[in-house]
Amino acid sequence: MSWETVIGLETHVQLSTKTKLFSRASTAFGESPNTNVNLIDCGLPGVLPSINKEAFYKAIRFGMAVDAQINQTSIFDRKNYFYADLPKGYQITQMDLPIVLGGSIEIAIDNSVKTINITRAHLEEDAGKSIHDQFDGYSAIDLNRAGTPLLEIVSEPEISNAKEAVAYMKVMHQLVTYLEVSDGNMAQGSLRCDANISIRKKGDLELGTRTEIKNINSFKFIEKAINYEIKRQIKILENGKKVVQETRLYDSAKDETRPMRSKEFANDYRYFPEPDLLPVVISDQEMQDIKDNFPELPKDKEARYEKDFKLSSYDSKILASSKSMADFFEDATKKTKNFSLLSNWMIGEISAFLNKEAIEINESKLIPNNIAMLINRIDDQTISGKIGKSIFEEMCSTGESPDQIIESQGLRQLSDDGEIEKLIDAVIEDHSKQVAAYLDGKEKLFGFFVGQVMKLTAGKANPETVNKILKEKLKK
Ligand code: ADP
Ligand code: MG
Repeated sequence: MSWETVIGLETHVQLSTKTKLFSRASTAFGESPNTNVNLIDCGLPGVLPSINKEAFYKAIRFGMAVDAQINQTSIFDRKNYFYADLPKGYQITQMDLPIVLGGSIEIAIDNSVKTINITRAHLEEDAGKSIHDQFDGYSAIDLNRAGTPLLEIVSEPEISNAKEAVAYMKVMHQLVTYLEVSDGNMAQGSLRCDANISIRKKGDLELGTRTEIKNINSFKFIEKAINYEIKRQIKILENGKKVVQETRLYDSAKDETRPMRSKEFANDYRYFPEPDLLPVVISDQEMQDIKDNFPELPKDKEARYEKDFKLSSYDSKILASSKSMADFFEDATKKTKNFSLLSNWMIGEISAFLNKEAIEINESKLIPNNIAMLINRIDDQTISGKIGKSIFEEMCSTGESPDQIIESQGLRQLSDDGEIEKLIDAVIEDHSKQVAAYLDGKEKLFGFFVGQVMKLTAGKANPETVNKILKEKLKK
C-alpha cells in the first residue's frame, strides 16, 4: 500500500514586546520566578486587562509580510480550561475574528519552490510554567511567562513530510527575526510548534485521522518527532487498525511520541467573547505607519549586498539568509574595507564553527569588531591567512581580540626580506641533496623548501616573500 502524509503546523511565536499583552509586567526572560508578575497576570478578581498595541503592530507586520488580510477590527475570546499554570481559569485568545487571515509563505524543496498557505494568525497570551523537578514531592509554578504575547500561526494541511515541515519552520524563523517581531530563540521557547499529522492512501481526497504533537522547539526534534509519528501511524494502518485522534508528546531522550490526552477527554473550551475587552480597532493611519516603517526583508538585503559590497549573488544570499549573521556582517563592514575577505570568513570559517557548536553567532564569543580586526590584520599582512585561522580558534574560545592574541603569542608575520633571506640560506645549506635534485628537475621539491622555512618560523614567514626569494635563490 502506498501512503501519503499530511501535516499542518501551529506555530507559536513569542512577540518581543517589552511588556505583556494585557499588563505592564516585563516579559524579560530568565528573571527569578514570579517577579515579572502583576495582579492582572495573577488573575486576581476585579482587575481589568488593557491592550498592548505593540503586540498588534508586530502581528500586523507579520500579516503584511505574508500577504494576508489584516482585520483592522479584531476581538478577543476566552478559552476556558483549568490548569495550575493558568490562574484566571481561562486564556484570552482570538477565535472568530483574528488579527491576521490567510496569506502564504514559500519554502525551497530540492530546487523547487512550494507555497504553503496560512489559515490565520491570532494573538493570545501565554500561560505560566509548571516546574516538576525542583522540589521533592511538589510541583512549583512560575508565572513570569503568564500573559506574554504570542502570535499563533496556523498553516493549512499542505505540508507533505518532515523535511518540508523543517523548511517551513526555518522560513518562519527567518521571517519573524527579520521582521523583528520575535527574537526567534527556540531554546527559550520563543518559537515552537504543534505538528498535526495524518496519513491517507495515496490519491485519497479525504484527510486521515490526525494526531497532534505538542510544543516542539528545535528543528532537529521537529524532523525526528514527525518521522517517528509517520512510521507509527503507517504501522497502525497496515495492521488494519485505526489511528486514534489524540494529543501526543515527543520525548527526545527516547526519540518517540506518546499520548498526552485523547479527544474523548478533550476539553470543551466554551469559547465566548472576552467581556473585559472592547474590540480592537487599528486605524488606517496606524496601518500606514507600519507600512512606512517596514523592515528590510532577505531579498532586499541580498540585492543591497551585491550592490554595496560587490559580493556575488550566491554569497549575498547565504549572508542574508540569517538575520543574526547579516547583522553581524553589517556591523563588521563598518570596521574593515575588505568586504569580500570578510564575507569569505563569515561563510567559511565562522559558519563552520557555529555549525559545529550548533549555536547562533550572537551566542558565541565573537564580536563584529574583532572579526573586522582579524580581516584587517590578514589584509595588511600582519599575519598570514593560516595564522589567522589559529587566531580565530583562540578568539572563539577566549573572546580575546586578534591584536591581543598576536601580541601575547608573538604571531606577527615575518615580512622582513633580509631576515627571511637568512633563513632561506640556512635551509638551502642544510638540504644540499634536495637542492641538487631540485636543480636536476624535481620541481615538486619547491614546496618542501617553503615548508622548511615555515617550520623555522612557526608559520610566521610571509609566504609570498618566501616564494619570491626562494625562486631567486634556486635559479639554475
Ligand atoms: P484545532 O482547533 O483542533 O487545533 P484546527 O482545525 O484549527 O484544529 O487545525 C489545527 C491544525 O491542524 C492546522 O494547521 C490544520 O492544517 C491541521 N490539520 C487539521 N486536520 C488535519 C489532518 N487531518 N491532518 C493533518 N493536519 C491537519
Ligand atoms: Mg490545535
